[in-house]
Amino acid sequence: MSTNKLARDGGTPAIREPLPGGGCGIELIGEEEIAAVTEVLRGKKLFRFGVGTECTELEAEIAAWLGTGHVLFLSTGTAALVCALSGMGIGPGDEVIVPGYTYIATAAAVVAVGAVPVIAEIDDSLGLDPADVRAKITPYTRAIIPVHMQGVPCRLQELRQLADEKGLLLLEDSCQAVGASYRGKKVGTWGHAGAWSLNYYKAITCGEGGAVFTDDPVIIERAQFQSDPALPMWKGNTEWLTPPFSRECYRGNEVTAAIARVQLRKLPRILDHCRALKRELLSLLDTPQHYVRQHVDDPDGELGISFAMIAHTPELACRMSELLLAEGLTIGSAYNSGFPDRHIYRYWDSILNKHGATPAGYPWRDPAYHGKVEYSPEMCPHTLDLLSRALRLSIHLNLTSDHIAQIAEAINKVDAGM
Ligand SMILES: *Cc1c(COP(=O)(O)O)cnc(C)c1O
Repeated sequence: MSTNKLARDGGTPAIREPLPGGGCGIELIGEEEIAAVTEVLRGKKLFRFGVGTECTELEAEIAAWLGTGHVLFLSTGTAALVCALSGMGIGPGDEVIVPGYTYIATAAAVVAVGAVPVIAEIDDSLGLDPADVRAKITPYTRAIIPVHMQGVPCRLQELRQLADEKGLLLLEDSCQAVGASYRGKKVGTWGHAGAWSLNYYKAITCGEGGAVFTDDPVIIERAQFQSDPALPMWKGNTEWLTPPFSRECYRGNEVTAAIARVQLRKLPRILDHCRALKRELLSLLDTPQHYVRQHVDDPDGELGISFAMIAHTPELACRMSELLLAEGLTIGSAYNSGFPDRHIYRYWDSILNKHGATPAGYPWRDPAYHGKVEYSPEMCPHTLDLLSRALRLSIHLNLTSDHIAQIAEAINKVDAGM
């Protein structure tokens, strides 16, 4: 059939007009967010303690959404990770296992509290590989940070079981999975603590923002101390569960909280749109010949904002990417020569080189640390191999069913014709 002729060979491209770019929450920023911000400004209520209410209302709404006990709204997602780690009592001398595929902030947060990140492999879920985590546990390991990349939950149940078996803490970096759930329970609530980011690129956004959450009253109290050195001053005579300590300042603010409250109400709309498109895409795809789909442990719970094909070899991934480009679909592998993607451990120079903030070389040369973690660019070969074979597509609010049909046609055509 002539329509099946590859565009490279002179056939008609499957994608007729350039696909629109776009994101999720950012696309819905509109009058409601503007009104919410205006109201805060008109009231001159710009501080979360004493005069404000947006932060506390947002925290209650996130807690209800997640079904979790305690939430603290913060300046960024990285701050949320730092506060979670500090809240769990992690610090100098401790090792924390992180995946080799995540935004550098996950590892940086570990360094920020004075602990040492240990980098582990990912598996075909593109999330932390439970088997490699097990292999990397040492007497100094205190916690594991699974990361749900692009809204796809990793093998959470196995990781939770492993953490329980080994007496380790589990902190879910859910910065890219705001709104996702896993086997009927929101991601972020499977661990001892979880973190959200609400930065510009995330599923919902207030520009910059983050939240740490937990069911444990001591963890949240310590997270509060970590987030504001003067907390006892703002909160007055409070009965603390643990003695206050003073660290950094990551207070959330009323303006961004007001935006986040509106965005949270729009989250179901975002999920409905993206999940429906992802289901359509999956239903339109033929049985793959040259790739396998990313393993999605709970297809009903994922956000639906991402679709990844893992080609059988890096060479096939390159060819598929070229042929798809000719069909009008721009899709590349995450790991390829030329582009240092900071979501891949290989490009976390400051970590791999053990560069501390001062010549003392903390946390790696901290006298409290007795482990001997080693890093190298090739230390997680399985991760690099998977990322060199994975072709990933974003599903967002500006895509329609018609676009998805064209994308599916392009993929089917290329997979059958290459
Ligand atoms: C975005 C992100 C963070 C940090 O979020 P910021 O709000 O930018 O500090 C942490 N981890 C992952 C996996 C992320 O994608």
